Amino acid sequence: MSIRPKQSLGQNFLHDPNIVRKIVDAVRAPADRHVVEIGAGQGALTGELLERFATFTAFEIDERAVAYLRGEFPDLDVRERDILQLDWASLAEEKGAPIYVVGNLPYNITSQILFDLIDARTIVREAVVMMQLEVAERLVAEPRTKAYGILSVQLQTFTEPELLFKVSPNVFFPRPDVHSAMVRLRLRGDDSMLDDVDPEFLRDVIRTAFNQRRKTLRNSLGRWTRGMGIELEGDLEGRRAEELTPPEFVALARYLESRS
Ligand code: SAM
Repeated sequence: MSIRPKQSLGQNFLHDPNIVRKIVDAVRAPADRHVVEIGAGQGALTGELLERFATFTAFEIDERAVAYLRGEFPDLDVRERDILQLDWASLAEEKGAPIYVVGNLPYNITSQILFDLIDARTIVREAVVMMQLEVAERLVAEPRTKAYGILSVQLQTFTEPELLFKVSPNVFFPRPDVHSAMVRLRLRGDDSMLDDVDPEFLRDVIRTAFNQRRKTLRNSLGRWTRGMGIELEGDLEGRRAEELTPPEFVALARYLESRS
């Protein structure tokens, strides 16, 4: 059996009720916690979420989809909003924290949404989100693999990412070209991995190092660190961004911070 929206808004609609249930089952929000859906679209997940969670808000940027959702689910708190403009702190004041996030993400802004969730890590406890399989693989990638990069280090530092299951293009209508995956991100709200390093500075170190991922840190970071009056020492100089684990990036940032 498959579910279909009453009108087409040209989006890829998730029509397999088994996958919908599997996704909603993966949301581990306690009954009294607020749940946010990002990009509710034509409500493939929304009906099931509304039934399960007492306090729930859907965000959607497309006004036609918002009108559709209001027609289908009169009790739904749906907000026509760009999720990238959402002030998570205000939402937490209104609804209480921690908040749980779920959604089939708009694939073109997946990374920005993930970075926003990291920034909201004291507010958002857990996110269960669908994204392109390729991106999901980057989040959980290990050093020295092709998929390992900025997303891997940032996400593994601030969250515990878990690839839950792959999602075939066949469960969407129209069928997209890409494969997808569900990911669970458990946000580390206490910054325990940071070892007192400034998160902004850590981000700059990661970005600068991965700009030239195969070069040694002496080459990829050298100009920048010399500008700060710091020489990389010991075996650090000869290492490459793609082989440093997330804790090693934190240690590198700590070393640079302590000398600048
Ligand atoms: N949840 C639906 C489903 O599973 O069938 C639709 C998911 S679709 C991949 C992504 C949805 O995000 C679309 O409805 C799109 O309009 C919405 N969207 C795109 N950019 C957005 C943004 N910046 N803020 C909020 N929603 C956005």
